[in-house]
Amino acid sequence: MVVEEERSESGAIARVATVFLTGAECPWRCVMCDLWLHTLEEPTAPGSLVRQLDLALGPLDREGALPSRIKLYNAGSFFDLQAVPLEDYGPLASRLQRFEQVVVESHPALVGERVERWRDALGPVSLEVAMGLETAHPEALERLHKRMTLDQFAAASARLSAYGASVRAFLLVPPPFVARDEEAEWLRRSIAFAFECGISVVSLVPTRLGNGALDALHAQGQFRAPRLRDLEQALAAALPEPRGRVFADLWDLAAFSDCTACLDARRTRLHAMNLEQRVLPAIRCTACG
Ligand code: SF4
Ligand SMILES: [Zn+2]
Repeated sequence: MVVEEERSESGAIARVATVFLTGAECPWRCVMCDLWLHTLEEPTAPGSLVRQLDLALGPLDREGALPSRIKLYNAGSFFDLQAVPLEDYGPLASRLQRFEQVVVESHPALVGERVERWRDALGPVSLEVAMGLETAHPEALERLHKRMTLDQFAAASARLSAYGASVRAFLLVPPPFVARDEEAEWLRRSIAFAFECGISVVSLVPTRLGNGALDALHAQGQFRAPRLRDLEQALAAALPEPRGRVFADLWDLAAFSDCTACLDARRTRLHAMNLEQRVLPAIRCTACG
């Protein structure tokens, strides 16, 4: 579990706990996904996620340091019944009543009646659902084997809004199968598409090597592994964004860095840009130039 600060829709800075739950593997097999490395081959046993949540929240509770928001990330779709058993909705929701907002992830195809059940279980706690849009480039999206079209993403976003949930969209930096000289333009179009769907926050996620499939594409020259400067350039190009918030995902940032001398300064700058939603002066490093 990690606790971070995040800018909320009102502009206030909220503390957010992210709890990584271990459950059943996602039935999709998206080309860029490495989340299956952290899942089980069998369905999640009822009660297992509740125990994991109790274990994660225990230390925060004892310190009296419970954040106001929480993300429950299960390395798949929260609304996949193999991953999150229906009978766990009530016990999980009862433990989340002390938070003002709960964020879960889902593939757009699973946005349906179970979202309503989860929202009803949460009661007054607001719900945000994070979905991978990945890219608005239609051919690249199809080749990612996400088995989702842009129309389906838009329909799922509209349904979530009708359920009273806000939506977070993940975008890849860069998406595989998009030509190098078109990456910036497709990022701009992808952000625009996400906000046209009514989402409230875009998270820019550097695409990670290491799942085998991407490594093979990289070797064939069909995927360019990003470096830290790609994420810096992507966020700087996206801000300021009047239609909503745009964040850079800072998880495992060291994996994208080529210089230990400036890594901390670059992380601090990106974190500040996430919070302030404006471009801050670039980092000058004498070690890497
Ligand atoms: S739907 Fe999400 S969790 Fe499942 S394989 Fe695709 S990217 Fe990974
Ligand atoms: Zn440097």
